Amino acid sequence: MIHGKTLQAWCSSHPLIEDLVALRETRWFNPHIAPAAQALADVGLSAADVSAASARLARFAPYLAKVFPDTATSGGIIESPLRPLPALHATLLQAAGLPASGSLWLKADSELPISGSIKARGGIHEVLKHAEDLALAAGLISLDSDYRLLASDQARQFFSQYKVAVGSTGNLGLSIGIMSARLGFQATVHMSADARQWKKDKLRAHGVSVVEYESDYSVAVEQGRQQAAADPSCYFVDDENSPHLFLGYAVAAERLVAQFEAAGIKVDAEHPLFVYLPCGVGGGPGGVAFGLKLIWGDHVHCIFAEPTHSPCMFLGVYSGLHDATSVQDFGIDNLTAADGLAVGRPSGFVGKAMQRLLDGYYTVSDETLYQLLVLAHDQENARLEPSALAGMPGMVKVLESPEYLTRMGLSAGRMERATHLVWGTGGSMVPEAEFAAYLAKGRD
Ligand SMILES: *Cc1c(COP(=O)(O)O)cnc(C)c1O
Repeated sequence: MIHGKTLQAWCSSHPLIEDLVALRETRWFNPHIAPAAQALADVGLSAADVSAASARLARFAPYLAKVFPDTATSGGIIESPLRPLPALHATLLQAAGLPASGSLWLKADSELPISGSIKARGGIHEVLKHAEDLALAAGLISLDSDYRLLASDQARQFFSQYKVAVGSTGNLGLSIGIMSARLGFQATVHMSADARQWKKDKLRAHGVSVVEYESDYSVAVEQGRQQAAADPSCYFVDDENSPHLFLGYAVAAERLVAQFEAAGIKVDAEHPLFVYLPCGVGGGPGGVAFGLKLIWGDHVHCIFAEPTHSPCMFLGVYSGLHDATSVQDFGIDNLTAADGLAVGRPSGFVGKAMQRLLDGYYTVSDETLYQLLVLAHDQENARLEPSALAGMPGMVKVLESPEYLTRMGLSAGRMERATHLVWGTGGSMVPEAEFAAYLAKGRD
């Protein structure tokens, strides 16, 4: 029995569970989507909260530019480029036998400074929020101080009394660990078995303590949570439920507005925007999607992508069980090369908050991720880790779903003017040898 029903009963009430359990690539376009004007209230956070996060990142920008020289050219603002993918656009449409339509772009969060993944948004924001709260309470700074003060020996000494801990499959650990250690905190990262060695090595080189587990992400998070709970000087970054992570991700949307303007991309009723977001626990894609919906409302269509072996958000939302279930409950193994996405149990907060705001969910096999990794590299010179390719099949899945397009009023004319944006969530810091091995595997 699975949550009171047999698997067979689940498959007859929710037919796509059959595909999920068989590890077949599948998709679900959400019949419960509601107008953004109504559904944004489900989130319990507002545009003002996103603005506050954005203002905080701006206060810290001079500090970041000082301590992380790779952010100096952007004035300490952690942002990634937007790139067109004309060759891949043509290749993907042609392979699917589809006519030319719209345009395809990459949001290259793989190139975000400091930690080379989308986690440099939420993770770093949360550490900065905690540091700011402590420093304000101690009178070390006020809101209008020059935050470069926080790079002083005195400030580092102050932060060294405190600990920061997090559980991670790798990238969140990198962001939280590197940022915390730089401020002076004692940082501990609890790593799941699937985390890459180079990520552990990099953290240790930054003076972060890494605790390794032989089990998956949920266990690493739980262990970290328990150890932190026993120590009042320890702040635990809760990837499954944190509004500060979520808001850090959401700031991406206002930055994208300026990039779209510079690229001449319009988003309105006649120019729909589709955004394909790789989903692990859900905070990253959920936060970005929230920011996008606040700005573009019903003109932006957000779709989550997960590995066939780890479809936790798809399963949680589709079954209505949310974080009460895990993919393992349904016999799915949560073993995938997409390490940032190897999450068996979704965030309950994100799944529930976003369930009327997301257009759909789909799964993608590891084989497809590796093939796309090669294509993106060969045709567009993009350096993405397997997880970061999950958004790439989204455009074709949308174009091949006439029932969804019709239901949403997305006529052929509108789709010709559509922008498809793949969120490329990580990869620039993958070591050369590791990346060569990814390519070899994909070419195989
Ligand atoms: C963490 C991560 C994601 C997904 O973010 P969640 O908040 O876990 O949903 C996607 N891609 C990469 C590369 C990641 O590291």
